[in-house]
Amino acid sequence: NKITIAIDGFSSTGKSTIAKQVANHLGYIYVDSGAMYRAVTLYAMNQGIINKNGFDVETLIKKLKDIKISFKFNKDLGFAEVYLNGNNVEQTIRSLEVSRFVSKVAAVSAVRKKLVAIQRNIGKSKGVVMDGRDIGTVVFPDAELKLFMTASPETRAKRRFKELISRGDDVVYENVLKNVQERDYIDSNRKDSPLIKANDAIEIDNSNLSLEEQFEKVLQLVGI
Ligand code: C5P
Repeated sequence: NKITIAIDGFSSTGKSTIAKQVANHLGYIYVDSGAMYRAVTLYAMNQGIINKNGFDVETLIKKLKDIKISFKFNKDLGFAEVYLNGNNVEQTIRSLEVSRFVSKVAAVSAVRKKLVAIQRNIGKSKGVVMDGRDIGTVVFPDAELKLFMTASPETRAKRRFKELISRGDDVVYENVLKNVQERDYIDSNRKDSPLIKANDAIEIDNSNLSLEEQFEKVLQLVGI
């Protein structure tokens, strides 16, 4: 019997890496809910709704109906890439520029409402691993397995920094650390669906765990 697996936690705790591995192993669908918030942020940046002068929340809310977000499985990569109005934005949404604004966009209730509806719709078919900040608390409160991933901010910033450098982005470690800490703060303190561990979530601190160790642990929890 297929189940729903909800993986939440702070930025760059390695949620997506483990979620993808587990999904592939179980033959489940992996959904990166953060990619959806990032895609909405990219849209706002492209449209000038976010610019040097700030973030025009009202205009974004008005334009939400024009934003279409979808996923398409990429066989070579082994996971579904995110599309914004028909364009593949999987790479573009990972930039530090998008990371700088995404938590502000994710704090807008109308944005969350729209994306949670899409996420629940995808979750109607069992056999889903979804990662994010509110999956176990809001999106799938009845998920059979809930994980809450943690690691120290420095461990997380180092991981994110390596990722950005390896894709050729020109970033400074201190700025990546600052961004991770800023997002933690905004995500934990927003009014709508703040980042908190669900009561029935199992916490995994992976600061000192290898990928293999995490994978084994999660499979044990799934019960295979
Ligand atoms: O997972 P990722 O770090 O790519 O998510 C980017 C941002 O999107 C988070 O910092 C958070 O502000 C927002 N987010 C959210 N709820 C989710 C997933 C992501 O608010 N379920």
